[in-house]
Amino acid sequence: MARADDIQPISPLGMTLEAYQQRCAEEGVGPGRALEAYKAVFREGATHSAPAKVTLPEIIKRHEEPVNEGVTIKFVQRLLNPDHRLSHRGIDFDDIESVIIPMLGRSGKKTHTLCVSSQVGCAMGCDFCETAQMGLIRSLSASEIVAQWHAARFIEGIEIDNIVFMGMGEPLDNLDEVFKAIACLTDRYGAGIPMANITISTVGRIDGLKRIKHQVQQEGWKRLGLALSLNASNDEVRSQLMPINNKWNMQELQDILLQLREVRGGRKIMIEYVLIPGVNNDPTHADELAAWMKPFLKDPTREKAKGHTGLLNVIPYNPRRDSPWPAPTEQQVEAFIDRLYSHGIFVNRRRTKGRDTMAACGQLGTAEIRKRAFVPLNTPK
Ligand code: SAH
Repeated sequence: MARADDIQPISPLGMTLEAYQQRCAEEGVGPGRALEAYKAVFREGATHSAPAKVTLPEIIKRHEEPVNEGVTIKFVQRLLNPDHRLSHRGIDFDDIESVIIPMLGRSGKKTHTLCVSSQVGCAMGCDFCETAQMGLIRSLSASEIVAQWHAARFIEGIEIDNIVFMGMGEPLDNLDEVFKAIACLTDRYGAGIPMANITISTVGRIDGLKRIKHQVQQEGWKRLGLALSLNASNDEVRSQLMPINNKWNMQELQDILLQLREVRGGRKIMIEYVLIPGVNNDPTHADELAAWMKPFLKDPTREKAKGHTGLLNVIPYNPRRDSPWPAPTEQQVEAFIDRLYSHGIFVNRRRTKGRDTMAACGQLGTAEIRKRAFVPLNTPK
């Protein structure tokens, strides 16, 4: 058996313990030694523990913004990427953003949610989103996704309770690596984050949602959280805001979500609705939205259904750069929510955190990246 210090270092970021042990075995390192190294990296934040060596991307920017619950921290990592397809233009790095958001739990306990990026830029082209304006530059590897957690946990020194894939990118456009990252983050010998505390948020790619339907039926995956960015109450408005809707409409979305509800044992799905004044905030929009949500309300005829299986999250629009629309006023947000309440829809209102530092929802995307390259949007056909 080789001595761990003599072999080429192997980073466990993005791997389950099992995968790591297999990889180490190929180099002649035994499972016990691999386990020690794995634990050192994920539990103590070690970057060197033979045979493990972790090279973390440099944090090139950091912003803090005080909010009611504590401090929102946005950090930007510079990924060195010497051989990706833009390097011929003389660019050999990519910048990605992550946000740590403090929350108050129901029992008054303070928790922290890490919002991670799954891509550099995004191909989905949603009109209201800052990241979309960059186009897609590239997808992240599982290791690069997990490195965001490692930095939050050990460089920022914050215990991370929840992880949401709501940073830059469309996770269903990079699902293999996102699944790998989740398998790593939930590994009980490593980061050990409960599956129920991880949420994938999507524009609603039906092909990806079908894969998730399959995945959540695998052992350990049932509780994976799911969020759909609906953002409109009818196909006309949705197609204007989100090109993906031309491929898969709201009826198809509702169908797959109902299928997912079956296999997820009635677990709640979060429906996100970015409220944009003059675009999707009419009383008639609230009525349509309530009608679309109906199948997710409590159904007394279904024995197993415990309550609402859809949770509506209204997010006041955060103006992107050069936005044609303003943020909604407090009154507009309340009027819209009241109208939904009148239909018996339970609404959660997302408090805006980090808007000043462009760290809020849909504001991730760096000016430097935007300047340099525009990759044509390739919405799937
Ligand atoms: N691509 C994924 C995840 C990233 S966006 C998705 O679409 O779900 C995460 C959330 O931020 C989505 O619900 C999205 O609708 C919302 N969002 C995007 N731009 C926004 C903006 N300018 N203001 C407020 N929320 C926004």
